[in-house]
Amino acid sequence: MKIHNFSAGPCILPQDVFQQASKAVLDFNGLSILEISHRSKDFVAVMEKAQSLALEHLGLINKGYKALFLGGGASMQFLMTAYNLLEKKAAYLNTGTWSDKAIKEAKAFGEVVEVGSSKEANYNYIPKDYQIPTDADYFHITSNNTIFGTQLKEIPQVNIPLVCDMSSDIFSRQLDFTQFDLIYAGAQKNMGPAGATLVVVKEDILGKVSRHIPSMLNYQTQISKDSMFNTPPVFPIYVSMLTLEWLKSNGGIDAIENINNKKASLIYSEIDRNDLFKGFAAVEDRSNMNATFSLNNDSHKELFDNLCKEANISGLNGHRSVGGYRASMYNALPLESVEVLVNVMKELENRA
Ligand SMILES: *Cc1c(COP(=O)(O)O)cnc(C)c1O
Repeated sequence: MKIHNFSAGPCILPQDVFQQASKAVLDFNGLSILEISHRSKDFVAVMEKAQSLALEHLGLINKGYKALFLGGGASMQFLMTAYNLLEKKAAYLNTGTWSDKAIKEAKAFGEVVEVGSSKEANYNYIPKDYQIPTDADYFHITSNNTIFGTQLKEIPQVNIPLVCDMSSDIFSRQLDFTQFDLIYAGAQKNMGPAGATLVVVKEDILGKVSRHIPSMLNYQTQISKDSMFNTPPVFPIYVSMLTLEWLKSNGGIDAIENINNKKASLIYSEIDRNDLFKGFAAVEDRSNMNATFSLNNDSHKELFDNLCKEANISGLNGHRSVGGYRASMYNALPLESVEVLVNVMKELENRA
């Protein structure tokens, strides 16, 4: 049975990747990938491949960046970024629950200036007119707001280090990635299973704070040990590597962005056309990864939910802080799944 998986995360990954990953559980050069040493030649090769593919996709090879695969999720990066970079003052743009959490963590390390926030509107738009203090140690943004379905279409130009939580749209669209000094992303939104976090950091921004940083949380330790200060999440890193290979063999970010644009325009056109539905996010800030919408009339909910179920649509419930529905359309979700969803929305119109 084919299930159309719109889950926000952990999310759909390519079927090919599932197949290769399950094979490696049984036989990875004779042993299971789950029982080999992280220091073995075979796994070191996996780690190197995953790191170099990540940098290659982002166009950051030989540009002073290092790619790390760490444990702890994106949430660990909320504090790790501040621990390593915040000496006195940092600037944050508050565009959703995840930015808000990053701000809370950073406050333990210094002054945090919230340059803009859409909290008062339940984060349904991206604040645009704001001033960034020029003496801040860095500016932190969230490129895609997974819960609210908004996305930064333009990356702010700044003269201080730019730090970005790219958990839910990394590798989904082309950007000039050299404008970022540190990018982090939990694997489970667009890259792999939960358990690994990718950090891409420009080395020359490190080593500037005066506090003592515990070894595990110090990017410089992690770089000097090549992400193997301790046992890294071996299997999630292996699966992330497979997904990055899949992306490469499918034409890289440019090709996937094309499909992602098609998927997004398909669903948003239907949300706008169909009188039974309304979108949540401001039109100009709509995310290509997570489309948030709801029914205009709750009396249609039962029928819509049943039609979705009959069509094998899964994971469409909105986050509890927004309600309604959320269609997450990460790289591995086929265009066909969005077509199935749009047809169900049309059918509701015919039957309601
Ligand atoms: C899911 C998500 C997080 C949290 O990720 P964890 O790996 O669960 O810590 C942080 N930021 C964004 C944008 C997310 O989508």
